[in-house]
Amino acid sequence: MSISYQPVIGLEIHAQLQTNSKIFASDPVLFGQEANTLISPISLGHPGTLPKLNKKVVEYAIKMGLAIGSKISPKQYFDRKNYFYPDLPKGYQITQDKTPICMGGAILVHLKEGDKRMEFHHIHLEEDAGKSLHEGDNPYSFLDYNRAGTPLIEMVTEPSIHSSEEAFALVSEVRKLVRYLGICDGNMEEGSLRADVNVSIRPVGTTTLGTKVEIKNMNSLRNIQRAIEYEIIRQTKVLNEGGSLIQETRTFDAHAGTTHSMRVKETMNDYRYFPEPDLAPVEISVSWLNEIKATMPLLPWEQEQKLIKNYHLPAYDAHFLADTREMALYFEEAAQHSKAYKSISNWLMGPVKSHLNDKNQSITDFELSPKALAEIVELVEKGTLTHNLAAHQLFPLAIENPDKSAEKIVEEQGWLHAQSGDELTKWVQEAIAAYPDKVKEYQKGKKGLIALFIGEVMKKSRGTADPKRVNQLMSEELAKV
Ligand code: ADP
Ligand code: MG
Repeated sequence: MSISYQPVIGLEIHAQLQTNSKIFASDPVLFGQEANTLISPISLGHPGTLPKLNKKVVEYAIKMGLAIGSKISPKQYFDRKNYFYPDLPKGYQITQDKTPICMGGAILVHLKEGDKRMEFHHIHLEEDAGKSLHEGDNPYSFLDYNRAGTPLIEMVTEPSIHSSEEAFALVSEVRKLVRYLGICDGNMEEGSLRADVNVSIRPVGTTTLGTKVEIKNMNSLRNIQRAIEYEIIRQTKVLNEGGSLIQETRTFDAHAGTTHSMRVKETMNDYRYFPEPDLAPVEISVSWLNEIKATMPLLPWEQEQKLIKNYHLPAYDAHFLADTREMALYFEEAAQHSKAYKSISNWLMGPVKSHLNDKNQSITDFELSPKALAEIVELVEKGTLTHNLAAHQLFPLAIENPDKSAEKIVEEQGWLHAQSGDELTKWVQEAIAAYPDKVKEYQKGKKGLIALFIGEVMKKSRGTADPKRVNQLMSEELAKV
């Protein structure tokens, strides 16, 4: 007999903080530099050196805590987590085991079934390790310590995530948030944001947690989802076949789409945590906390509400625009130059988004300034141009000539002329004169023929005339014949 199981998932999300220097040393924090050029005796853990805490790191972690409604611990200290690994030159990692900087907190995520509050257990500070590199057939491993000592926050969720979709949505939301806060670039491919994924299952309706497996170092949203889906199926199969699960660490093979065991609990490290004797405890004063609160930017959901409230945008639009802070700011700036807010939003969700997708760019790379886009929107609003003409002809020309005003392009292309009543009337009359037979048939009742005449005029205007106006004028002129 097979029973139904409920998946239970908990995430440990690591975000590298975008500070100028490392958490306990002045070496720069940069990605993609020549190996072992961003190091110092402190980040290499040479005997006799002393770590010194970077204040910015504490500020960034507090920002994340404030954003998700955590309680900020007024007093904390650091701990040593002891283990041996070649990429950890000190032989221990400095972390916060007993007194994490932030406790609790939650993020609301949007799911198909509705919104869900995803609870966090805590956020703690720690340092990143270096990197071991294994190159093809080369029998040697290489070590790059540039990353050693990069500041990290580890955001640990409660085991209350119940599907791969929820996990995907939560990590996306965290990525959006750290980017809004400007504390991490959220670049998962470069490993700036990565997650350890804990998965277990339990019979539906029960509350005791099942035996979990941990999948380490996932740095793609898609793979987080795939690994969870694979694990749920694997664990269900083991239990249904009468087997039992063991607590273990597994890795995900992205190529095969499967996980395999790395180490089991019995042989797992005992880290022998103890308080780091070389660092003083950290105290967060009320006045400092207030200073940090005062520098908090609008958060994604606040930005979304602002777009709805101040610009009367539909929730869908607001959600799209607030996906990145840069897009929301672009919109708000364009809205300084045109009150057609919904039209600006349509342009950003339509032609602008397709253009950016085609070129694999983000809004910060977009050729047109918010003001230039607003000018195009206004030309359509005022009825100078049809939307079609603006989107398919003016827009690409404007992108090619970002320094030319939209009005100038319209003038150079002779589009104003094409929209004027006189020119249109002339073309309408020419079209009628060209098909006397069709005019007769039309008058006898074949009203559908009007499409032919309109087509003629559209051709003459090279597609720039407003079909609605042509239709109206054509009916009038045909009635006169
Ligand atoms: P550990 O001591 O093994 O590090 P923790 O209790 O610190 O475990 O939890 C680490 C992460 O694993 C958290 O995100 C937590 O929500 C999650 N977790 C803990 N137990 C389970 C479980 N049985 N199933 C799924 N996730 C779990
Ligand atoms: Mg743990």
